[in-house]
Amino acid sequence: MEFEPVIGLEVHAQLLTNTKIFCGCSTRFGEAPNSNTCPICSGMPGVLPVLNKKVVEYTIKMGLATSCHINNINTWARKNYFYPDLPKGYQITQFAEPIAEHGYVDVEINGNKKRIGITRIHIEEDAGKSIHDENQPASYIDLNRAGVPLIEIVSEPDIRSAEEGVGYLRRLHEILVYLGICDGNMEEGSFRCDANISLRPKGQEKFGIRAELKNMNSFRHVHRALEYEIKRQQYILESGGHVVQETRLWDEAQGVTHPMRGKEEAHDYRYFPDPDLVAVHLSDEWIEEIRKTLPELPLAKRERFVAEFDIPLYDAQVLTASRALADYYEEIARKSGKPKIASNWVMGDVLGHLKEDRLEIDESPVSAHSLVSMIGLIEDGTISGKIAKEVFEEMWNTGKEPGTIVEEKGLVQITDTSAIEQAVDDVLATNPTQVNEYRQGKEKLFGFFVGQVMKVTKGKANPKLVNDLLKKKLSEG
Ligand code: ADP
Ligand code: ZN
Ligand code: MG
Repeated sequence: MEFEPVIGLEVHAQLLTNTKIFCGCSTRFGEAPNSNTCPICSGMPGVLPVLNKKVVEYTIKMGLATSCHINNINTWARKNYFYPDLPKGYQITQFAEPIAEHGYVDVEINGNKKRIGITRIHIEEDAGKSIHDENQPASYIDLNRAGVPLIEIVSEPDIRSAEEGVGYLRRLHEILVYLGICDGNMEEGSFRCDANISLRPKGQEKFGIRAELKNMNSFRHVHRALEYEIKRQQYILESGGHVVQETRLWDEAQGVTHPMRGKEEAHDYRYFPDPDLVAVHLSDEWIEEIRKTLPELPLAKRERFVAEFDIPLYDAQVLTASRALADYYEEIARKSGKPKIASNWVMGDVLGHLKEDRLEIDESPVSAHSLVSMIGLIEDGTISGKIAKEVFEEMWNTGKEPGTIVEEKGLVQITDTSAIEQAVDDVLATNPTQVNEYRQGKEKLFGFFVGQVMKVTKGKANPKLVNDLLKKKLSEG
């Protein structure tokens, strides 16, 4: 029997606000333990939470960017459970009335578009962190993260493979980062994902029993964990067994999932409305105002680059990986008037050097403006494409303008026919054997002559003129 995987993802994204969701404490990562805390986020009795407006604004942005309906009335609930890093004994979250519902994102898998539904997006506060140190006689609690704002994005069970799951995650990730509401750092936990997965016989409508996977800290982990879990469940079903509903932890080192807790141990969270927080009423005017601030999203930008600059989809995908990179490319494409040449330079030389030097695009020593000048120098014949590579190296290392480098190093291309003719004559005169062989039919020697002329002219001869002159002279004899 053939089985089909059914997958739904729950993503937690940390919002990039300066302060926490219900108090004025800083959200900065990596500070001394418990330095960013106050009576509110450490759960002292008698204190009252005050909602951070930015959190609501950012979540509306994400809701709009994923085509969700924004609910005008939002309520808050307490999710009750005991854990040492949860000082109040409950987490404030949204339950009955989440801020956004019924959205979707489009994902491209091997050239095919697939729409994945978003059930809901709701706001909640993060918990603190327990620190277990083998060399210490106790465990420690750090509450710096307690009360940091999160959004949870719950997908419909529309995902059918590990590729689709990762494609969906990448899409959410890039939207969050484009919107500037999440830094997307998976290792620091700013973007985390739990995966629900079940199998059903192909053609059957009813879903099978699912397992929930946790502890995947990168896209690669998610991919591997889903692939593993599909195989594991398939094996159980094929050998006549039953999948048990449980939470399983991904073990990256061993490449397997282990059971963490079963259904019997599942929490009863006893959700109830939070009596300390009033319902939030969102006006349509404010929602529309926020809609106007949305930037062009990655998918739209990609499609526009292909249409407007006539570059391949692959180029557009690479060039829109971040907003900063897209802006950099777009400036060069427009100002140089040579979008495909611009794309080659940015994708090849710029991205290659950035990777090598571990720099981000906004740290590039070669500005968009300088690259436009350099493309101009190639286009007007001042330098050849080959010399341009040398100029680019120098630009990268010194930050100098291409015009300055060309002048200082005397790299101006030789387009003077008589000078090139002289060089061609010299090369032919000093290599009579090769000339004879060429004329007797060994045509692949042509490249050798080109190379020699370039060597004599230190790479500065205009390649087209060299070719033309060589062809002419070699056929003359
Ligand atoms: P829970 O209350 O356990 O969090 P939810 O109903 O909120 O469960 O669903 C959590 C996620 O699991 C959603 O993304 C949903 O699409 C997905 N899901 C639900 N049922 C299944 C199933 N049978 N197989 C795979 N995924 C599922
Ligand atoms: Zn606080
Ligand atoms: Mg849930």
